[in-house]
Amino acid sequence: MITDALRAAIGAANVIEDAAEREYYSWDLSQEPLQVAEIVVRPGSAEELAAVVRIAHEQGIPVVPRGGGISYTQGFEPSVAETVLIDTTRLKTIEINAEDSVVIADAGVTWEELYLATSAEGVRTPYFGPLSGRFATVGGTLSQNSLFYGSGLYGTSADITTGLEVAGVDGKVLRTGSWAHRNGSPFSRYYGPDLTSLFLGDTGALGVKTRAALKLIPLPMANQAVSFAYDTFEQAYAALHEAAKLEIAAELFIFDPANHAIYRKLGFSFLEGVEWSLHFTVEGIDDAIVDASVDILRGIGTRPGGGGREIDPSLPLAMRADPFGGGLRGFVGSEGHVRLPVHGVFPFSKVPAAQRGVVDLIARNQDVIDRLDLRITFLTAITRGYCVFEPVVWWPDSIGPYRARHAPEDAVARFGSVPPNLEARAAGTGLRREIALLMSSLGGTHLQVGKWYPYRDSLEPATYETVAAVKHAFDPRRLVNPGSLGL
Ligand SMILES: Cc1cc2nc3c(=O)[nH]c(=O)nc-3n(C[C@H](O)[C@H](O)[C@H](O)COP(=O)(O)OP(=O)(O)OC[C@H]3O[C@@H](n4cnc5c(N)ncnc54)[C@H](O)[C@@H]3O)c2cc1C
Repeated sequence: MITDALRAAIGAANVIEDAAEREYYSWDLSQEPLQVAEIVVRPGSAEELAAVVRIAHEQGIPVVPRGGGISYTQGFEPSVAETVLIDTTRLKTIEINAEDSVVIADAGVTWEELYLATSAEGVRTPYFGPLSGRFATVGGTLSQNSLFYGSGLYGTSADITTGLEVAGVDGKVLRTGSWAHRNGSPFSRYYGPDLTSLFLGDTGALGVKTRAALKLIPLPMANQAVSFAYDTFEQAYAALHEAAKLEIAAELFIFDPANHAIYRKLGFSFLEGVEWSLHFTVEGIDDAIVDASVDILRGIGTRPGGGGREIDPSLPLAMRADPFGGGLRGFVGSEGHVRLPVHGVFPFSKVPAAQRGVVDLIARNQDVIDRLDLRITFLTAITRGYCVFEPVVWWPDSIGPYRARHAPEDAVARFGSVPPNLEARAAGTGLRREIALLMSSLGGTHLQVGKWYPYRDSLEPATYETVAAVKHAFDPRRLVNPGSLGL
């Protein structure tokens, strides 16, 4: 019996068979559930995690890794019911090596925990987490890539990774980069072929990450923000594009009128009358450097003929003051809508076409959008060298087990017992898929592929065959997160 073996390996209290708990762990935010895992396990160390994978492998049972569970592309939703779902959130060790500018974090450490632990020592990872960093883990995030805080200067979570430790399908643990050297440590990603890259963005299809090594930088001593208002997306995007190429801002993003309505309710009254807004956060080793960068951004933001005027920068400042708290209000709208982002990763040149394409798509669906009370907002954000364009589709619906446990208390009290609205759900999920296909038709890629984005269909056949061959080499019986990446 696998349950007995798992109990012996990690303790009976960490082997969960309760139906409601298994449902909570198995369904993500997407409102498109797949199967419910037969068993959920909560190992307490990298060694226990590897033992779980080995036991499942011996018995021919699939495993699915889950970090914070705050993604929405069916990445950790089991594709078959006979699955052991591995919750990594008890793996919490953080080893800071300020001398070598590297931190080793267990897979289950959240970005907030990492930020608090490192900043207490005067250091930080260069990219320091997604807006969801109160829940999102290092292991989950590296498995699907992610951007936001610090990305304008330092890129994505993948760009700051110097090594990984991964439990393969048979439970054998391997390390990558200089960490794989018999006498080594994870100071460099490059030693022979870059095996680290193989596991970054694999959405858990090639193994289960147990630990990650990430770069460290000194905590920036100076921070400022500057914001601008525009009448059109095109004006805001022209300034964003010009600024992004300079790589002097840590965060760069555009909000739309619908987002402003939300933030006005939270007290940002200066957004009244603002159509599109553009925000920059700047950080550096001293005020003089930061002031110089802000002046350059001010010149770009208010360039004559560019349509921009400077506004209060309280929004990016508030985000920096509580980096991982504010974004979570996005779980449930103030009128009980669930919100589901769908994004495309684009070179700068393609973003205007993507935005126009989505606006046209909305116009073609306006009747159903109005009838079922759907809404669409836009976030446009930069990582070093390219752009993520992210429409967010909202619809009125039951909030589901994840939001019921993690959304702000007031939202759960008001909307926790709202019944499913299957018509709006079908329209919302359908519109989301149409937007994903539109992004793909324009050459957009995706950060969190999971089992939802059309990865397989978007790739040239020879490339997909190579990815499938790698999967086969690691996992010939398809026992690690089957269905992820379409494999
Ligand atoms: C309100 C909100 C704000 C958000 N803000 C951002 C943002 O600013 N930037 C951004 O990029 N994204 C954002 N996201 C999306 C999401 O939070 C991120 O993708 C995050 O990285 C998910 O981390 P997680 O630990 O919850 O991963 P999970 O959802 O648990 O898992 C994601 C995938 O990784 C796999 N996985 C998990 N752990 C492991 C492991 N140890 N080894 C191998 N595979 C594993 C899972 O099987 C799954 O396929 C946001 C989401 C919400 C709801």
